[in-house]
Amino acid sequence: MVVLAALLAAVTVTFPPAGTKMPALDQCYMSGAVARGVTNLTVQGKPVEIYKTGGWVTMLDLQEGLNMIEIVAGSEKTNHCFTVGQKPLPVKTGESFAQVAEKKYEKIPYAKDAARPHPTGKQPSEIKIVLDAGHGGKDPGTRSPHGFCEKEANLRVVREIAKALEEKGYQVVLTRSDDTFIDLFDRPKAAHTNDADAFVSIHHNAPGFSTDPRTVRYHTVYYWNPLGQRLATAINLQMATVLDGDIPSRGTLHANYAVTRNPEIPSCLVEVDFMTTPQAEEAVFDHIRRRAIARAIAQGIADWCALSPSAPSAP
Ligand SMILES: [Zn+2]
Repeated sequence: MVVLAALLAAVTVTFPPAGTKMPALDQCYMSGAVARGVTNLTVQGKPVEIYKTGGWVTMLDLQEGLNMIEIVAGSEKTNHCFTVGQKPLPVKTGESFAQVAEKKYEKIPYAKDAARPHPTGKQPSEIKIVLDAGHGGKDPGTRSPHGFCEKEANLRVVREIAKALEEKGYQVVLTRSDDTFIDLFDRPKAAHTNDADAFVSIHHNAPGFSTDPRTVRYHTVYYWNPLGQRLATAINLQMATVLDGDIPSRGTLHANYAVTRNPEIPSCLVEVDFMTTPQAEEAVFDHIRRRAIARAIAQGIADWCALSPSAPSAP
């Protein structure tokens, strides 16, 4: 162990990965962790606060081309290199994404055009919910300062929601129950092949490269059509109750995502929290908090099941 400890670097950088080519940006965030016992850290000559878990996050000033970021941690000095390109960050427009989605959706065998009847009056044992843990396998999603992957955080929340729903008597199907890669468009497809009453995808958020992660943290639920909006609203109400005073709610938002864009089956995507700052990382991997959030999401799904089919969608 002594030898191993001596080999461990005093500091690790989780974002941006070494050697990557970043788009044209003046600034980006950098995050990572220091080894146990390291109490001083400077990045680009500026002192950086080390959180109690060893995680840290700071903003970098960038220049076009090669960026060599000098990091001093304890008595160790290292350079972290990556390049910044000339091309600006590609803008994801709703239109171009819709065109891609349209193409891909041809592969999903929709049984009918009409919306699935709302499960009003059905017993929980007759209601089937498909839960989707975002990312998986070769697709890690975002990373926390210590390098924990979003795919793992998503799966842990999904397992807790599944447990809570099963305790209430619902049938639950998971798109993945381990670290498996699943094609984005196979996820909503699973809602069809399983004849689901609802589909809920679980994710954790990250800010844009040039946004300071310390300035953004909230939970939100995305939907695409009124069917998804009712489900999203019911889930968001329960999440806002349990997360009141912890992180703010951004409410429900319209989004043309592959997993929300489902004409028949009420579908939504939950962004549980961010995980890009040391504080957020610690919160996301707190299992008591996670269980409370998962139970709130399960209750939101149960509330949605009990809604009247003719009730207007909440604003
Ligand atoms: Zn995600």
